[in-house]
Amino acid sequence: MTGRVKAGIDIGGTGTRIIIQDSAGTLNSKTVATAEFAGISKERRSDALADHVLSLIPQGMTLASLGIGASGPVDTTSGVIYNKDTLECFSFFPLADELNKKLGVKVAIDNDAVAAVLGEYYFGAGKNSKRLLMVTLGTGIGVALLDKGKPFRTSGGQHPEAGHIPISGNALTCYCGLKGCWETLASRTWLQQNLESLLPTIAFEKHDVHFYERAAQEKEEVAKVFHRYGNYLGRGLVTLLTLYGPDITILSGSAAHYYPLFKPGLEEALTRSDAYAINKWIVPSQLGDVAGALGATVIPELT
Ligand SMILES: [Zn+2]
Repeated sequence: MTGRVKAGIDIGGTGTRIIIQDSAGTLNSKTVATAEFAGISKERRSDALADHVLSLIPQGMTLASLGIGASGPVDTTSGVIYNKDTLECFSFFPLADELNKKLGVKVAIDNDAVAAVLGEYYFGAGKNSKRLLMVTLGTGIGVALLDKGKPFRTSGGQHPEAGHIPISGNALTCYCGLKGCWETLASRTWLQQNLESLLPTIAFEKHDVHFYERAAQEKEEVAKVFHRYGNYLGRGLVTLLTLYGPDITILSGSAAHYYPLFKPGLEEALTRSDAYAINKWIVPSQLGDVAGALGATVIPELT
C-alpha cells in the first residue's frame, strides 16, 4: 500500500484509542489502557504514544498528521493538557510539541467533547448540520457545539462547560462550588445511583435497555426514575436549545442508550407553546465510543 494517512487519538482517563484513517476509511485501530502510560517516566510518555501510532501505519504508507482529543481542559494553542483530576499522566507537559518532534508531522490537541462532535459531523449522525449540538451523558455532562463545522469556544479558547448551568428546582451543591448545576441531576451518575438504590442487587453497567424496559414495566418506581431523569435532562437542554438553536442535537455517552426510556420525561420538559417552540430534533450518537478518535483526525485541519 502507498499513500498518506491521518492518525487520531482519543485519550480518556481509562482508555486511549488510536485510529489510522485514509480517505477511504479506517485502516487500523487499537485501544491501550491509559494506566500503561502512567507507569512510564514522563520523559518517555510521548515517545511511547508515538510508537503505538507508528505500529499501526500499514507498510509503505506515510503519516500526514496527528490529532488528539483529550479529556479535561486543553490549551489548544500550546498543545498542553491541564487535567490533574483524571488525566494527570498526560498533563502539564508539551505533549503536542514532543509528538511533533518525534513524528515530524503537524500535531494538534483539543478537548475530547470537541473531537467527538467533529467525529459525528464528518462521519456520523451530524452530517450536513448547520449548527450541531452534542450532549454527552457520562460521569458528568459534556457539551460541544459546532457552527457550520467550526467549534464554538469561549474567549479563553475553551469549549463551554455547560454541564454547570443551573437548573430550576435543584438544591444540590456541585463539586464546582455552585448550587443547582445541571450535571448533578442529569449525568449518568444520577441515573445509575437512583436505579441502583431501587434495584440494589443489580449492577447498572451489566444491563441494557431491554432489561430496564422490562424493569420499568414491572416496577412503577423504575419508570418514574427514567421519567425524572428525562425531565432533569430537558430542564438544562431547553436553555441550550433556546440560546443556540441547533438543527441537530446528538445525545451520546453511556446514559444515551436509555433514550427510549427517558424520552417521555424529556419531551415533557421541552414542549411549550408554538410561538416559543424550539427544534427538538434529537438523535442518538451514530459512532458511540469511536467518535472521539475519528473526530481527532480532523483537528489538525482546523488550526
Ligand atoms: Zn457545577
